[in-house]
Amino acid sequence: MDFFDDEQGTDDALLTNKNLIDTQEKLGTLLDLMPTGLIIHQLQGILYANQQALTLFEENAHDIVGKHILDFVAEPLREQSTEMFMSAFQQDKPVRFPEIRLQVPSGAKRILQVTAGRLPWEGTTVIQILFEDITELKWQAEELRKLTFNDPLTGAYNRRFFIQNAEIALHKSIREKTAFSLLTFDVDWFKKVNDTYGHLAGDEALKTITRVWNETTRHSDDENRRRDRQLARIGGEEFAAFFPGLSLTQARGIAERMRENLAETKIAYDNITFSISASFGVTTRLDGDKTIDDLIRRADRALYRAKENGRNRVESNKKSP
Ligand code: GH3
Ligand code: MG
Ligand code: MG
Repeated sequence: MDFFDDEQGTDDALLTNKNLIDTQEKLGTLLDLMPTGLIIHQLQGILYANQQALTLFEENAHDIVGKHILDFVAEPLREQSTEMFMSAFQQDKPVRFPEIRLQVPSGAKRILQVTAGRLPWEGTTVIQILFEDITELKWQAEELRKLTFNDPLTGAYNRRFFIQNAEIALHKSIREKTAFSLLTFDVDWFKKVNDTYGHLAGDEALKTITRVWNETTRHSDDENRRRDRQLARIGGEEFAAFFPGLSLTQARGIAERMRENLAETKIAYDNITFSISASFGVTTRLDGDKTIDDLIRRADRALYRAKENGRNRVESNKKSP
């Protein structure tokens, strides 16, 4: 850097500093009372943070100066945030970051909505970054989502959501002429479980089913497949799952593993230990199947046969009546 550049740099820094002091003087405590976090940032580091930002970042006004905002952004959005940060310096319009997760000393999990924009100050280019803490909002949305799609007792999908999803997946497989299989299962002698150990022990058994299912299907090859294998509670003690792309034999394999794992699982409730079993019906899409009901009915017929043939077994039904 030659002499003139250096001098220019010093002048810019002085101007920026003057602007900062002016802003703080003019706006006074207002900046600290704002419910929104505010940071003034130059390319190299933070120049100023208001009280709300300091609280969120668990920093004090002195120590935060010179640190970098991206040091407080947790993965996985660090890279994307770096891009947004850089573009805020270059663009005239404000930039909206993806929802970032904070990384702070206490490990508090906060989700922030972040907007950054260049300030029309003379001197070094500076941006202001505004933070809205949307953690509670996100949490409430997630709770609502769960209430809409999941059964509160077992955490499995509810019947309505299952039918809706399975119907979409079935029609995709009809269009694309790909395999599609489905299973249903029903707990054996569940009334006796309730009568013997009590209704709450029965509830515990139903919760265990979701856990065993997740363990059974956890080792699926890829993430997308696994998402397709979500369990749904479609009746009191009846469950179902669908498998786009899987043949009858493959779906039977999953049913067999689940049947075995479930029967081997010890359920503990209030000082008692017991186990349950279930009977499974498996079917696959046939030409002429139009709705998911066609498949559920066929799987249920196979399930009924599994009950008749002694329970704790898997039967499959491929043929239309
Ligand atoms: P089967 O082997 O023929 O299926 O016998 P089962 O006793 O399991 O069959 P049935 O359908 O006659 O009984 C189902 C029982 O499931 C009746 C009901 O009390 C119980 N049940 C349904 N929903 C719940 C629930 O949420 N919690 C508990 N604890 N029990 C439930
Ligand atoms: Mg039953
Ligand atoms: Mg039943």
